Amino acid sequence: AKNRSGVTACFYRKEMDEAARERKSIRADLQYAIARGELKLHYQVQTSALTDEVTGYEALLRWTHRTRGLIPPDIFIPIAEESGAIVEIGDWVLRTACKTAVQWGRDKIAVNVSGVQIARADFAESVHSILYETGLPPNRLELEITETALIADKVRALHTIRQIHALGVSIAIDDFGTGYSSMQTLRTFPFSKIKLDRSFTHGLDREPAAKAILHAVLALGKSLGITVLAEGVETLAQLDILRHEGCDEVQGYLLGRPEPRESALAANISVAQL
Ligand code: C2E
Ligand code: CA
Ligand code: CA
Ligand code: CA
Repeated sequence: AKNRSGVTACFYRKEMDEAARERKSIRADLQYAIARGELKLHYQVQTSALTDEVTGYEALLRWTHRTRGLIPPDIFIPIAEESGAIVEIGDWVLRTACKTAVQWGRDKIAVNVSGVQIARADFAESVHSILYETGLPPNRLELEITETALIADKVRALHTIRQIHALGVSIAIDDFGTGYSSMQTLRTFPFSKIKLDRSFTHGLDREPAAKAILHAVLALGKSLGITVLAEGVETLAQLDILRHEGCDEVQGYLLGRPEPRESALAANISVAQL
């Protein structure tokens, strides 16, 4: 038995070494991802729950590594945050998304922002200069921020968010309901949109609790004057419930997957022609 557990321990250790090596190599390659042209944005449509009208698009980052292939953002974003590469990548994302929105000439563009970016003293300034440089009207930009990204240094985050809000850019709270003091965050920051986390959407046709929470969040949104968008809508049954309950906006595979700029634009045009 002793021998066996020794083998197991050795096996785990090897796995851990392997994982650490992989992280390290991803971390090293991330610094060149922009220069090598390996980063790309996909765009996922957001629509009005009732009318299907397009309200905006969320930009989602894709990294095609030259040997590893597609690496999901859930894997490389945390590594980029740790190494600081997220600052340059985040600027690239913002600039690229704003340029695309200018070319489209309409609809809002929603961009995910990391806590590491918000913690920087010059973040509001870089948002301002990217808007200026690309010519995107500030009211067509929305920044999506998770609660976790705001609470590390709340005082500074609040200062930065207020500056950005004053530019005319709107702010959405992302993954709503998964943080640990969502009500406090909602009370403090000038959000114009709540993005209800997809775990609630997925529970809608099965769990009474998920529906009750949706109901409460919609009431909250209404009385605070904040738009509520349900994330991760995959089935018609979910969409029916969301419509019936009076949810404002929806996003998810049912309405459209994240797509490259060209096909997202084509979808945009065909929706407009309906
Ligand atoms: P998120 O901001 O919550 O983005 C929504 C994620 O859900 C996306 O995954 C999207 O592809 C996926 N999704 C959309 N509709 C559905 C659906 O109906 N069902 C399911 N199961 N999933 C759906 P993705 O693109 O892999 O991104 C994962 C996370 O990576 C994002 O979560 C966001 O936190 C982060 N991320 C992506 N792009 C960026 C970026 O440019 N900057 C930063 N800081 N983070 C990013
Ligand atoms: Ca998001
Ligand atoms: Ca989300
Ligand atoms: Ca998320």
